[in-house]
Amino acid sequence: MLKKFKPDMICKSVLDINLETLAKRGIRYLIIDIDNTLVAWREFEVKDEIINWLEKIQKMGFKICLVSNNQKYRVEKIENMLGIPAIYNAKKPLKSGFLKASQLLHQGKKNHQTAVIGDQFFTDVIGAKRLNLFVVLVRPLKEKEFFVTRINRIFEKKILKYYEKDEKE
Ligand SMILES: [Mg+2]
Repeated sequence: MLKKFKPDMICKSVLDINLETLAKRGIRYLIIDIDNTLVAWREFEVKDEIINWLEKIQKMGFKICLVSNNQKYRVEKIENMLGIPAIYNAKKPLKSGFLKASQLLHQGKKNHQTAVIGDQFFTDVIGAKRLNLFVVLVRPLKEKEFFVTRINRIFEKKILKYYEKDEKE
C-alpha cells in the first residue's frame, strides 16, 4: 500500500531539484506548495534565492500554480507578491485543490506532464499520488510548524525510513 505513495524524487530544497531530469521526463507543469516549501511557515518574506528560482524555472518553460491549505489572506498576499496564480484552502490531501490547479494550468488535460512539489508526505505526496501525479518531496524550510503537522512528521519520518530501506534492498 505504501509503495503507491512513494515520492518520485526526494530533495533537500526546491533549489536542489534537477530540472533537466523533470524536463526529460516530459514534465512541463508544476503545482507547488507554499508553506515550508517556498516560504517559512507564518512568515511572509520570500527569500531572493526562491524568487530567482521561480523566475528561472518559468524561463525554462515550466508553468506554475501554487496550491496551499492555508487561508485566503496569506495565500493571496504571496500570490500577488510572486505574480504566480495560487489556490488557497486547498484541503490537501483531498483532490480538489490539485484538480483546480491542473484545470488552471492545462484544463486538466496534461496530468501526465504535471509534477507536484511539497514538503509534507500526508498532504502533498498523498494528494498528488491519489491523482497519479509525479511528486517531489522536499525538506521543510523551518522546524516551526502547525501542531498537527508536527504530529504528522513523526509518522512521516517512519515512512521515509521505510522507503530508504526499500531502495537499498
Ligand atoms: Mg507545506
